[in-house]
Amino acid sequence: MSTHLIKPLVGQIYPMIDYGKGIYLYGMDGTRYIDGSSGAVTANIGHGVSEINDAMFRQAEKAAFVYRSHFTSEPAEKLAEKLAHSAPGDLNSVFFVNSGSEATETALKVAIQYYQEQGRREKIRILSRRTSYHGITLGSLSMSGHPLRRQRFEPLLEDFPAVAPPYCYQCPFKLSFPACGLKCADDLEEAILSIGSENIAAFIAEPVIGASGGAITPPDEYFPRIKEICERYDILFIADEVMTGMGRTGKMFAVNHWGIVPDMIATGKGMSAGYTPMAATIVSDRIMNVIENGTKVIMSGHTFSANPLSAAVCLAVMDYMDNNKLIENAEKQGRYLLSKLEMLKERFPIAGDVRGKGLLCGIELVKDNGTKEPFPLNDKVTETLITICFANGLIIYPAVAGVTGYSGDAVIIAPPLTITETQIDELFAILERSFEQLVQRLE
Ligand code: PLP
Repeated sequence: MSTHLIKPLVGQIYPMIDYGKGIYLYGMDGTRYIDGSSGAVTANIGHGVSEINDAMFRQAEKAAFVYRSHFTSEPAEKLAEKLAHSAPGDLNSVFFVNSGSEATETALKVAIQYYQEQGRREKIRILSRRTSYHGITLGSLSMSGHPLRRQRFEPLLEDFPAVAPPYCYQCPFKLSFPACGLKCADDLEEAILSIGSENIAAFIAEPVIGASGGAITPPDEYFPRIKEICERYDILFIADEVMTGMGRTGKMFAVNHWGIVPDMIATGKGMSAGYTPMAATIVSDRIMNVIENGTKVIMSGHTFSANPLSAAVCLAVMDYMDNNKLIENAEKQGRYLLSKLEMLKERFPIAGDVRGKGLLCGIELVKDNGTKEPFPLNDKVTETLITICFANGLIIYPAVAGVTGYSGDAVIIAPPLTITETQIDELFAILERSFEQLVQRLE
């Protein structure tokens, strides 16, 4: 088909979507797919939910757009209040943006502003982990430890990823937990000492590392230690919950698993569950008090920030999640999904590690799970598995694993939070069949 739309891979033909219902998507040719990754870990409540469409229509009839410098709107106010109530601790103020990249970049700017307002203009550096993804804009990419996405723009990027990830399966220090004493967390302290805390505004981390790791999940002790280090050196802690937030891991925010309160949370994706573009930076009272007593203006914002139509959608999504107890379902079905995925390790030596939290699960693929030897990059194992799954009617999400971030194969399985046990069985049967076909191809 000839088209003017620039595709992710130029020249490639993509199937055309007809409609979606629940965990299923239907192509124009009638093919049915299980959305085993909720798109890009986004369609948290599944597809075609009529309550959301109704809410969208009602708001569109009232006011689809107002500019945030002219008006506020009832949905935006209510959504901010609801998010603030759902967020831990004193995270009581919400800045709306349109994408996860903007949410993390706003957090970066607010962190720098927080110290500037106090006359500490040298605190401008951000620390992040060498295995991480925080977005595609130049600021958010500067924070991302994702070499593949960085390499073309490297001369324009800041070198923020300086800290080891909590990557137990392929520990960067070749240690094992708990004997390691959480050396990866202490690595943050080492980076702070070598750069100087007087130069650092914030440390940003994904609670469960997504695109850049394949659902790398830290030991429970990791984030409390991280938070303690940040406090000790007067560095803000930003939790990038763009992928993990809004119930995905079985709690509203993944940091709730460890009882810690970040200074800011960036969220997106599941907020609108993909029905409209929407994301947010949630900011603590500690930071807002300084800004309110200072310049009073957060120097960020976009034409579509706090869009009333998107806010109405997000409110309807949050209501739908509450009414259908989807966070509880994510926790319960996540445990079931992980137990099924574990079975792959017994059947297939290429299933290296199985990990995750709630309905954010990952499988790292290796040549042999006894040796953990990675496949060469040119073997394109992740891509092949994803293509086979797609042909079999299952959508899964690619991730880059491995300590260098260039090589290493992993996939993410993250179906909508509405998924049932029977549907997980259906998903797993296709995945298992796809693994069999992958093994045959690799022989
Ligand atoms: N942060 C995390 C953890 C993400 O997973 C992503 C996207 O995958 C982003 C930020 C960027 O979000 P967006 O693609 O909406 O800009």
